[in-house]
Amino acid sequence: MDAWKEFEQNPISHSAAHHIVAIKELLDEYGYARVSDVARLLEITRGSASITLKGLKGRGLVTEDDRRFLGLSKTGEHVARSVIAKKTILKKFFIDALGVEEHQADIDTCKIEHLVSSETAERVAQFLRFLDSGDPSSEHFRKALAEFDEPCSGDTSSCPCCAEACLVKELGDDELGS
Ligand SMILES: [Zn+2]
Ligand SMILES: [Zn+2]
Repeated sequence: MDAWKEFEQNPISHSAAHHIVAIKELLDEYGYARVSDVARLLEITRGSASITLKGLKGRGLVTEDDRRFLGLSKTGEHVARSVIAKKTILKKFFIDALGVEEHQADIDTCKIEHLVSSETAERVAQFLRFLDSGDPSSEHFRKALAEFDEPCSGDTSSCPCCAEACLVKELGDDELGS
């Protein structure tokens, strides 16, 4: 199946991922999480949080005790840790390796944190390990990358990044795409 179609069936929607991570953050920081706490943290209405959390309870990711305190099931806890790990790795990659500005890195990693595969995130982590290894070749690579500022010539026959057109020019601005 095409990857974009699989996204539609991704069991964890972006919103669901944020609700689950919010519960984990609240539990880690305060030791408890209620629907109103999740709503406040995510800056949404209590009603909206309640609907999403009800769905997550139904799917066995979120738990609620008789005093209305929320928790995460083993699977829910796994999802939270995985999403946080992916975001952390990708953010470090965008900032440290690519030089993306922190605010933009935050926005972009937020959009893909729950979609990127563990396999790809692991490859990125491995790349970061190499970059920080102190190995002379990684130091050299880092320095050379930082100093490399040649823009694409627009000559599609010699640019390895370009196909029929210059892909960098095709990127345009994000007004429509985001
Ligand atoms: Zn996000
Ligand atoms: Zn190019």
